[in-house]
Formats: sequence, C-alpha cells, structure tokens
Amino acid sequence: MLGTDRVAIVLIGDGMAGRPLREPYGKTTLEAAHTPNLNRLAKMGMCGIMDPVAPGVRAGSDTSHLAILGYDPFVYYLGRGPFECRGIGMDVRPGDVAFRCNFSTMDDDGVITDRRAGRIESGTDKLLDGLDGIRIEDVTCYIQPSVAHRCGLVLRGSGLSHKVTDVDPHDAGVKYHKSEPMDDSPEAKKTARVLNAFVERAIEHLAEDTHGVNKERTAAGLPMANVLTPRGAGIGPHLPPFGVAADDESARWADLAPGQRAHIEPGIALSGAMVVETGLVWGIGYFAGMDVIKVDGATGGYDTDVVAMGRAMIQATQRHNFILGNVKCPDVGGHDRDADKKIEAIEKVDVLAGLLLDELDFNRSVLVVSADHATPISVGDHSGDAVPIMFCGRGVAADNVTEYGERACAAGSVGRIRGRDIVNMTTNLLAIQEKFGA
Ligand SMILES: [Zn+2]
Repeated sequence: MLGTDRVAIVLIGDGMAGRPLREPYGKTTLEAAHTPNLNRLAKMGMCGIMDPVAPGVRAGSDTSHLAILGYDPFVYYLGRGPFECRGIGMDVRPGDVAFRCNFSTMDDDGVITDRRAGRIESGTDKLLDGLDGIRIEDVTCYIQPSVAHRCGLVLRGSGLSHKVTDVDPHDAGVKYHKSEPMDDSPEAKKTARVLNAFVERAIEHLAEDTHGVNKERTAAGLPMANVLTPRGAGIGPHLPPFGVAADDESARWADLAPGQRAHIEPGIALSGAMVVETGLVWGIGYFAGMDVIKVDGATGGYDTDVVAMGRAMIQATQRHNFILGNVKCPDVGGHDRDADKKIEAIEKVDVLAGLLLDELDFNRSVLVVSADHATPISVGDHSGDAVPIMFCGRGVAADNVTEYGERACAAGSVGRIRGRDIVNMTTNLLAIQEKFGA
C-alpha cells in the first residue's frame, strides 16, 4: 500500500547536456535539437541547473544515479563493476570482485584497434560459451554478456581485492594493459595475477571461435571480438533500501546518508522503480531494492524504443510512486563525438517526454527532466559541467523559462541544485514529506 496516489517520474537523458558546438557562442546539441515537448514542459515548469554530484565533478553514470537517488556516492561507491554485473543478473557476493568488461578488437601485436569491437550487437553469448565458470588457482571466473559490446566478470575465491588496475587501455592504438596491484597486499597481487591469466585464457578462447562468430564478422567486414578488456574493479556495496514502507517507523528514520534525505510522511510509502536500459543503472536499482523493469526494444543504442519505455513508466505508476527513467542514446552520441546522432537521440528523449506530457495527471504527479552528466561533443566523454533540470506538475510555480536547454534553464527559478536534492524536491512538491522540526 502506497498510502497516496501521487507519483514522481524522473526522466534522465543520459549525457544529454553539453557545451556549445562552437565555443563559446554556438548552440549545444540540446539547444539545436527540435524539442517541442521539452519546451512545452519548460513553459509550464520551473527550471534550473544541477550539479549531479558537486560543482565541477565529472560524474559517471553510476555515481550520478546514486546521487539522484539520494545516496552519497563518496560513501557508497566502491567501483563500477558490481553495478554492471548485478544489473545483468549476475550474483555478486561479499568478497567477490566484479568488473565491467568490453569485447574489443586487437591486432597481432595486442594493440587495441577498436575498444568496442564495432559495438558488436549479436553473438556475444556464443563467444563466451565455455568461458563462464573457468577456474584459475582457487578462483572461479564468471562471465556473462550484457548490452552490445559489454559484459560482466565476477571473480569468486579467497583473498581477492578490488585494488587492481584496468586491462582496458581506454584508448585505441595502444596494447591492452596488464592489470597491476594498486597496493602491496597479497590480495591485490593475487587478483591482478588471476585477472591477467583470465584475459590470456579469453584471448585463446575467442581465437578458437567455436561457434564461428568471429569468422562471420570477418567475412562481413566487421571488427573481430578477439580480446576481453576488464575495467572498473569493485566490491558489492550495501545500499540502504531506497524505498520506505508506509508502516515502517524504523526505516523512516534510517537516513540514506546523514543529512541527505528528508523523511516521508507517516502512513505513506516511498516505492521506487526503474525503467532504464543499461546494466550499470539496473545494478544500482537492484542494490537499492527498487523494482527494475526491463523493456523489450530498450536497446541502450540509437535504435531504442522510447515509446515502449514511456508506456512502461506510466504503467509503473500504478504500483510505485517514484519512477526513474534513463534513455542512454544521447550519451552514446557524445562519446562518438557525433553531433547529428546526439541531436537525433535528444529528439527521441523529446518524444518520450511528449508521451509523459500526454499521459500524466499533473494534479497528482511531478515530472522531472534532467541529465546525469554532460557528454559534450568537444570532449567525447563526461565533463563536470552543470546540467539543465526542470520540475513540472503538482506544486510547481511556472517561471519565465520557455525552452529546455543548458543556458535557458540557468535563468530559471530553481537556481543551482545538486543531484541529491531531487528526491527531497519531488517529495516536497508532492506533499508527502514529513516536516523537519516542529
Ligand atoms: Zn557516458
């Protein structure tokens, strides 16, 4: 029982913010995109800018989503790998060390020629067939495919540490790295040794190509997936649950992190769900005890089905009152440094915003639209810039902003907030928050 019919939807365009294409006076991709629905929402909403983690901090999607859900990432973030692995349904236990992992392409000298193996879409399960569950020393190595070129790797055994460097060199044109221990502990040394041995076994396994996936790719002129490049070692975090039961007095007073989240009114529950399309954010949802709703057609790529995602968000409001949505493709455009693709991707977010605009009852709901970080075309990666944010619906006093963009929103009444303020601001607008003090 929720004890209320009021709902919040927080729609995140992943990496949707950016910088002027011609600095300092050109338009950003968000300003250049045709976004009639986002602009309509801006007219009825109140706007501002948000530092996902803190001013100038270059947030990852993981640290940013933790903050947006009210968790202090400086407290709860223990590496990216566990979120990715948990997000794709892998078991991550205490003591396990988990990695994100790419299928990459290397030449005969081990030099990475494509970090994402041409963003390989199919056959990754076949490529991993026979590799999952192999043992190195007393460590079992679990590997599972995720979306596109990504997979998850979990090492389970005695005496492991997440203090090891990446195998992924993070740039094409250099040889894949040997993982190194980051401290003098026997645990870090053992983990680096096992990880390096795993990568060598994976290279042999991918060269054997039992199912002929790489042969087919070569014949089609596509880059081979002939090496695995783990990165982002981490141990599974213990997040306090995001949700609060209507009758649970103790949970109501157990702050997520001291001073970060206001309490929900007694008798009212906070029940969180996620409609997102990357393993990384799914993992945060699982660790936070949210309902993780996966949508057919949500691919994490440019071709994602935003209408299906929007419908799933609306449907989720029947059982939950805090829905987090994330559309990944604007971030892909930013990483690809492809302004046209990023603009197209932002226009997909606009279509989804239009669906929510039509379907939501704004007398009892709040819609928040923002980004988890900027991915400027000129940077090709995340930057620490503030991102636009707007709040629409119940309790909102419209300001004078009429366009959804980085600079337009900066003039709005919300001013400048942090990611961790979003839950408090929405529960205030929805009037489901308990008074702090008398
Ligand atoms: Zn990104």
